[in-house]
Amino acid sequence: MLPLFVVDPAFERAGAPRRALLHDCLQALDEATGGALVIRHGDPVDEIPAIADEVGADSVYVSKDFAPYGRRRDEHVADALRGTGRHLRGVGSPYAVEPGSVRKDDGKPYAVFTPFSRRWRIHGWQTPIDTPRSPNWRTAPSDGLPPRPGVPFELPFADEAQVTADWQQFRSTGLDRYAELRDRPAVAGTSHLSPYLKYGLTHPRQLMINPQPRGEGAITFQSELAWREFYADVLFHQPHTAWRNLNSKFDEIAVDTGSLAQEKFRRWCEGMTGFPIVDAGMRQLLATGWMHNRIRMIVASFLVKDLHLPWQWGARFFLQHLLDGDLASNNHGWQWAAGTGTGAAPYFRVFNPTAQQQRWDRNGEYVQRWIPELDTSAYPAPIVDHGVERREALDRYQAIKGR
Ligand SMILES: Cc1cc2nc3c(=O)[nH]c(=O)nc-3n(C[C@H](O)[C@H](O)[C@H](O)COP(=O)(O)OP(=O)(O)OC[C@H]3O[C@@H](n4cnc5c(N)ncnc54)[C@H](O)[C@@H]3O)c2cc1C
Repeated sequence: MLPLFVVDPAFERAGAPRRALLHDCLQALDEATGGALVIRHGDPVDEIPAIADEVGADSVYVSKDFAPYGRRRDEHVADALRGTGRHLRGVGSPYAVEPGSVRKDDGKPYAVFTPFSRRWRIHGWQTPIDTPRSPNWRTAPSDGLPPRPGVPFELPFADEAQVTADWQQFRSTGLDRYAELRDRPAVAGTSHLSPYLKYGLTHPRQLMINPQPRGEGAITFQSELAWREFYADVLFHQPHTAWRNLNSKFDEIAVDTGSLAQEKFRRWCEGMTGFPIVDAGMRQLLATGWMHNRIRMIVASFLVKDLHLPWQWGARFFLQHLLDGDLASNNHGWQWAAGTGTGAAPYFRVFNPTAQQQRWDRNGEYVQRWIPELDTSAYPAPIVDHGVERREALDRYQAIKGR
């Protein structure tokens, strides 16, 4: 067996944090395989058949990708291999249950989270198998690691053993209070595992040994992982929803894109809107590559409903800066907040950023941590009036409602 990773030039489009983390993950994987990992740079459609030929491999095994680009790429790789009499075999996926395999009785996919999650749990998943200790690795010349772009923060540990230890620590000390603390951005109430799930340093099956967990914390945690699986499933069935409204009715809604809109967007990106809970979130993102889930919902709602900008602008910015940036979770998380996607947040439900701050960061601990100049004249006045913009958002919604 030859362990191979092909650095696809398409990955250059990913933001610096994700490219840096990929670098560190590959380095750790190389160490874990005793230096056996072969890295090649180039189009996988060319590279994979070439190396299969070099080492005389009959089959190539790949962890299945379910997002639009990865699916197309793997189909092209399979075609290229077939041309040389070889097979591409997809094994496993980054999900507990493969996207596409949870369906209604009539075979149709689910469009709503709760019934999906019920069926997903019944479908169940296998417990992980142990990795063989010393596989008999083949070797081949390697191109070496991709360049590591600079990022303005320290990256999380890209080491499987450390991630397992972090998870065990969270399971024994944080999981019981997860349901209670997960919405409080000032406390470390969530697992922070998202970048590791993204890069496969852990797998949902390792975090959900028991398909029927006990206790409110464990049940809620499993449900959050189910959201990740649900969004991957939705994107699998409807790949066009990566960048287009799932609910096409919203294609008609008016959004602002002119120079004033660009200026508002810039202020949002920099964490300078004058709404502390929004600005704290954006600064946390820029300073750490991660943002708390409750705050992701608030800043996304603000961009769409208070600034009237296209959700795609925000989604793209998130993918550039998040360490856990993932097309399915991110773009459907954005559509959820924008009210254009799956589920329960109807368009006319508009988050009030001030009320959200009072509810989830009552003592102002989170906003003060991220905005040192908060109580000084250096902090800007609000760039919009929430009451006015809320009405504007509702008017725009009314205008398309009857259509
Ligand atoms: C606008 C928006 C954009 C988002 N973009 C991403 C993204 O690019 N990548 C990403 O992994 N998550 C994204 N999320 C989901 C969620 O915010 C993060 O997964 C979570 O904050 C990660 O922190 P954690 O690992 O401590 O989460 P925990 O609370 O510890 O949850 C455990 C795991 O469950 C999954 N999860 C939790 N909440 C969600 C959710 N709402 N949707 C999907 N999966 C979830 C994640 O894999 C997470 O690591 C987004 C949410 C919103 C509202």
